[in-house]
Amino acid sequence: MTTEELRESLLAAPKNGYTKLTAEQREEMEGYCRRYAAFMDECKTEREATTWAVREAEKRGFKPLTYGMKLEPGDRVYYNNRDKAIILAVIGSQSLAYGANICAAHVDSPRMDIKPNPLYEDSEIAYLKTHYYGGIKKYQWATVPLALHGVVYRKDGTVVTVTVGEDETDPVLMISDLLIHLSADQMKKPLAEGIVGEQLNVIMGTEPLEGEGADLVKLHIMKLLNEKYGMVESDFLSAELTVVPAGRCREVGLDRSLLGAYGHDDRVCAYAEMEAIFDLTVPNKTAVCILADKEEIGSVGISGMQSDFFEYFMETLCIAQDVRLRECFANSFCLSADVSNAFDPNFAETCDRRNNSQLNYGISICKYTGSRGKGGASDASAEAMGHVRTTLDNAGVLWQIATLGKVDQGGGGTVAAYMANRNIVTVDAGVPVLCMHAPMELVSKLDCYMTWRACTAIYEA
Ligand code: MN
Ligand code: MN
Repeated sequence: MTTEELRESLLAAPKNGYTKLTAEQREEMEGYCRRYAAFMDECKTEREATTWAVREAEKRGFKPLTYGMKLEPGDRVYYNNRDKAIILAVIGSQSLAYGANICAAHVDSPRMDIKPNPLYEDSEIAYLKTHYYGGIKKYQWATVPLALHGVVYRKDGTVVTVTVGEDETDPVLMISDLLIHLSADQMKKPLAEGIVGEQLNVIMGTEPLEGEGADLVKLHIMKLLNEKYGMVESDFLSAELTVVPAGRCREVGLDRSLLGAYGHDDRVCAYAEMEAIFDLTVPNKTAVCILADKEEIGSVGISGMQSDFFEYFMETLCIAQDVRLRECFANSFCLSADVSNAFDPNFAETCDRRNNSQLNYGISICKYTGSRGKGGASDASAEAMGHVRTTLDNAGVLWQIATLGKVDQGGGGTVAAYMANRNIVTVDAGVPVLCMHAPMELVSKLDCYMTWRACTAIYEA
């Protein structure tokens, strides 16, 4: 063999996905990304994503799973976990004793949640106090347009949905930062202290009501909330209100190759899974699509991936086929569909370039996450990685390998460890993201498209 032949046969040579994309695939990619962007415009919280999933699943013949239900291959069922998370399944032709093919993503994203006693007035400005949710760089959230999303459970027991800041005619909200002219002290602080948690106070208004007494601006805001939502101040206690970046998913770059939006992590993988499961007819193995909550704070709580709600759903499926739940788990496969960091040449020193995912190279497969010696990682086996690689290759899906930054630089986790703890073979894979957890995150259309096709390939394996 010549050196050239040896090079070709022995060495890996990753290429930009655009060199391989056909004209039909490009068209399919643009269509998929338009549908994804529309989903993103409607869904900025786990509640909104769950509501969207229930509505669209029902349109496509999915029914709520109930105990004792008779299930045939091709049947479509779902479980709405208290409007905060959802699992969908399409029953396969094989028994659940042979396992299920699972894709697990999360639909919560970093943001600022309203405190239980949030509304106050200082210097005749009304504010809402917040507590951030998930990992954020706090300075990024000041001086950007913000919106208020959520629900309020009122004293009379009725629930009202709140959305302020998304309609073109709505006002937006904002957190202030200090003018540069007076920032001599602030500019000397480390970035982590430039804006601190208790400064994430959202400006609600400045116009006082007519009359005497204290807090006339606050009272004005409460009056407006009462007129629109029937709220009184104590209703904040039984509310779930959250402050997120205002605005829509946008094409980014003159070539329109990127999508910029709040919360690609991890709705970009959640949407891919959903479209993939919606399009199935009768898969070989039962296909299961999980949209979980609380991943950003450790997959805890009743709607997080450590919760028993997954067992509750899977056991109900297994009982319908007279299969032991643990038998099903032992033979199942899970793609933990979550984003990775795309290589950013502006911060090249934080990554091992040879082992980092890159925009436009396809879905990135991640053997392990974690930090400091793989701590907290699921660490997929060679066999599990082999299964994913072969499945994606056979389906013509473009993929790449990912690790999250250079060793000892930081790290992160996903739901993978909690799925693997259940004796389910699990591999992490997802869309590479630039500026993850920022108010606006960037992904490439090509990687979104390949992740959708990867989920289909996993379901059809
Ligand atoms: Mn994530
Ligand atoms: Mn995240």
